[in-house]
Amino acid sequence: MGKSYYISTFGCQMNVHESEKLAGLLSVRGYFEALSPEKADVIVFNTCCIRETAETRIAGRLGNLKRIKEENPRVILAVCGCMTQKKGGAEALIKRFPYIDIIFGTHNLTQFGAYLDAYEGKKTVEIWEKETPGEEDGTAVKRAGTVNAWVNIMYGCNNFCSYCIVPYVRGRERSRKKADILADMRGLLDEGYKEITLLGQNVNSYGEPGGFSGLLADAAALSGTFKLKFMTSHPKDLTEDVVRVMAMSDKLAAHIHLPVQSGSDRVLSLMNRKYTGKKYLETIDMIRKYLPNAGLSSDVMVGFPTETEADFLDTVRLVETVRFSNLFTFIYSRRSGTPAADMAQIPYKVKQERIARLIARQKEIGPALAGEAVGRVFTVLCEEIHGGVARGKTQCEREMTFPADGVKPGDFVRVRALRHKNTGLIGELV
Ligand code: SF4
Repeated sequence: MGKSYYISTFGCQMNVHESEKLAGLLSVRGYFEALSPEKADVIVFNTCCIRETAETRIAGRLGNLKRIKEENPRVILAVCGCMTQKKGGAEALIKRFPYIDIIFGTHNLTQFGAYLDAYEGKKTVEIWEKETPGEEDGTAVKRAGTVNAWVNIMYGCNNFCSYCIVPYVRGRERSRKKADILADMRGLLDEGYKEITLLGQNVNSYGEPGGFSGLLADAAALSGTFKLKFMTSHPKDLTEDVVRVMAMSDKLAAHIHLPVQSGSDRVLSLMNRKYTGKKYLETIDMIRKYLPNAGLSSDVMVGFPTETEADFLDTVRLVETVRFSNLFTFIYSRRSGTPAADMAQIPYKVKQERIARLIARQKEIGPALAGEAVGRVFTVLCEEIHGGVARGKTQCEREMTFPADGVKPGDFVRVRALRHKNTGLIGELV
């Protein structure tokens, strides 16, 4: 039967894709995926430390592994990701969970195979302080889906937003060679993938010749029928030439995820976001000039240190002005080692009350926007079918469900929106 593995992934798309690399490293060694940790010979936790809540949840899950290890001492427990890479993270994990066997970081993820091959029961803790450009590439990838695939274009972040731990655990920005990215894409399209998402903490600062707009143009020029997406963008780096390229190609999804975080210039400056609310709205206007029906989503952080009621109302006003089709809202979480951690924190009760008001407002805006889309006909990429009902996303990344009628995952179809349910659309094939 061979040996089996179980991977638990926490956090962002970057981690989701890196878990596909971990699965690739295990699969080329003959491991197959187990349905549960109890049934696995190797258990890997790919961790996140973006917020305290994430770490608390992971610690709880790691605590549960003690029983599995006691019942099956031969199981190998490995932990990686941002929680291990952060300063003192690995030591803290070993102290609290001494039964973990292998710990490695974000910069040496592709070494996991070698650590497993060499493992003879002696604990392995290997954290590389610095990133090694190119280290992340060329590893086997076992992809979770058959329709959409992730392709890294760059790693790391140089922005040092004052609340964010990412630059400390993912290192400095390094961009992959364009030829390597296009080769990956060509391979995936030849394998039948219909959607490619270009991935990076800040894709707009892609640093190879031609920049991000050049990469997008060349990627969209690849032959075949497919959908091209990218994440995540930073408002200070999203340029007009990128949006122009998007408007010129029907392969590029008419959707941009553009985290604003706050609508208050005072808070944006404390966050070190390097743009103002006015500049952000000008960028939105620029996007809508080229892509009038673009889907726009964003991240908003509520409760940043020293945030006043007036600051919060600036955020609500910006959200009401832009009208995002989707809004991801977060309560500020103090991260030790980041500048914001030393600023005056505001009471949790105030954060909770404010985020509840923002969510309630967005729960009015999102469905209203979906309502305005009823009657329109969209190109939809079918992603899955359950019980005769197909689910997919429109060109502007709206959820759409419709009767399958012979459609299969990976098909691009025309669907008329008949009604909406919350922010999702329900339609019929045209
Ligand atoms: S852009 Fe800011 S929030 Fe995003 S990963 Fe970089 S430092 Fe963190």
